[in-house]
Order: sequence, then C-alpha cells, then structure tokens
Amino acid sequence: MSVSRYWREAKSRYMLQGSKCGRCNRLFFPKRSVCPSCKSLSINNIDNFNLSGNGVIDAFTYVHEGLTGFEMQIPYVIAMIKLEEGISITAQVVDIDDNTKVYIGMPVRMVFRKIGEDGKSGMIYYGYKFSPDMANFG
Ligand SMILES: [Zn+2]
Repeated sequence: MSVSRYWREAKSRYMLQGSKCGRCNRLFFPKRSVCPSCKSLSINNIDNFNLSGNGVIDAFTYVHEGLTGFEMQIPYVIAMIKLEEGISITAQVVDIDDNTKVYIGMPVRMVFRKIGEDGKSGMIYYGYKFSPDMANFG
C-alpha cells in the first residue's frame, strides 16, 4: 500500500467511518460516493457517518493457513460482524484466549490494532479488528 493511499483512507480505518445516503438513509461501509439504491439522485447527497463499532458475530471461520505476515497469529478467527447500524463487516476477531469460545451472536466491539508493516517504507499500519465486548456479556 502506498503512503498516500494509507493517509487518504486513514479516517475510515481509524474511526470506522462509513457514509450515509441523505436521500434514502442507507448506510455504507466502506464509504461510497453514489448510493446504489438512488443512483444518480444521490450524488452530492452522501455524508460521512461514524459507525459505533458495536456488533455481534453473524458467522465466523478459523484461519489455519495465514497470509504472509500473519503466520504468527494462526489459528485466528475471521468473522462477519453485524454492526448495530445494520451493516455487515468482515474482520479479524482478537483478544480471545480460546478460539472455541467464539459463537454466533457473540457481542464484539471495534478495536485498533497493528495490521502489518512495510519494511521498505518503515510504515506500520493500524486498522480495525474486533474484540469480545465484555460489557455486553450476560
Ligand atoms: Zn440512497
């Protein structure tokens, strides 16, 4: 990833910022500039929208063969998370001492973690992952 692209996307990565169609109120993550529901009528009518980062696990899988740079983390959990705003997002679930404890319906919240680094540029990338939401266990 280039440094300029990283900074262009930084707000989305750090704040879980999506967008909202001002015409039909549909939410998007990642951001879109044209709403697929309203199409051209939504141009200039899309605003940034900060998502809460709270959600529940809708589906999940265990990754046993890590991507390059992620070998140290295997096995890890990748989940489809349904945010309270109704948007689904795919992300890694971290901070679980035992992967078998993950279940569908598990409350999670977004956390910022190191995603990777680029040895050539010296850049360390951070982004969103999800962690069990202890406040909502009950
Ligand atoms: Zn729309």
